[in-house]
Amino acid sequence: MLNLPTYTDVAAAAERIAGKANRTPVLTSRTADEALGAEIFFKCENYQRMGAFKFRGAMNALSKFDPRQRAAGVVAFSSGNHAQAIALSAKLLGIPATIIMPLDAPAAKVAATKGYGGNVVTYDRYTEDREEIGRRLAEQHGMTLIPPYDHPDVIAGQGTAAKELIEEVGALDALFVCLGGGGLLAGSALAARQLAPGCKIYGVEPQAGNDGQQSFRSGSIVHIETPKTIADGAQTQHLGQHTFAIIRRDVDDIFTATDEQLIACMRFFAERMKMVVEPTGCLGFAAAREMKAQLKGQRVGVIVSGGNVDLVRYSEFLAG
Ligand SMILES: *Cc1c(COP(=O)(O)O)cnc(C)c1O
Repeated sequence: MLNLPTYTDVAAAAERIAGKANRTPVLTSRTADEALGAEIFFKCENYQRMGAFKFRGAMNALSKFDPRQRAAGVVAFSSGNHAQAIALSAKLLGIPATIIMPLDAPAAKVAATKGYGGNVVTYDRYTEDREEIGRRLAEQHGMTLIPPYDHPDVIAGQGTAAKELIEEVGALDALFVCLGGGGLLAGSALAARQLAPGCKIYGVEPQAGNDGQQSFRSGSIVHIETPKTIADGAQTQHLGQHTFAIIRRDVDDIFTATDEQLIACMRFFAERMKMVVEPTGCLGFAAAREMKAQLKGQRVGVIVSGGNVDLVRYSEFLAG
């Protein structure tokens, strides 16, 4: 039996991470409201610590470690935001962290992870299995493995962003959430179902990798090849057991966005709202923009999930 988190766990996570995670701003844009004929509330996790919502889940999970787990340390595998989230949370809590990253991970990401005090172990992504390395380290050294999305404490932590959003602006008619492995969407669904019962909850993933949509519609987890998309935070091959169970139960639908739509949103955020959003962070708004007719007159929440993008790449996207 899966141990699925509930809204009670999201509320407990919110207390646990209070004062450690940023309470990120909710921004609005008259241009966006006029373009959609709706009221749009952007929950800006690009202003979260380390630049993405993943700090919430990592901080919640690590805060629950018992003394033995704290002493032995945490291990995680990721080339992206989860690595930095675990490294920073562990540093703040005084827990040793080992992060397994591919040999060819971007130097900036390796440097950021090391900068937060993480001990980086590299592997060859073409010949070695990172999950196997993670399990081995966990077994040999008694470390606790914290996965990027398929874990009750991670899901509960991620749900605190939607909780803050709804508590701040009031009930919503629709909520758009970026979707990779489903930690953010599952946690957001737990929060929204409780705090805004009539709210439609939508996940949005890259069109090149719509495994979540296929899974949602077919009723079982679909695995795909690593999708080719600029949304590198959502290049997952499948949903998790826990995230899928919650998404299937609580989410209303899953949409997709193309890379071109993500770039158009990145430009909108830069030009109109003066903020840097990474491609994956644009997924929610990219789908909302395509649904003008359905959203007319509604109160719409959009989770902007992160802002970590290499600035050279970013300027290329904007220059297009
Ligand atoms: C990880 C990540 C996502 C996807 O989150 P999941 O919990 O895996 O669905 C979306 N946006 C950003 C910026 C991320 O880092």
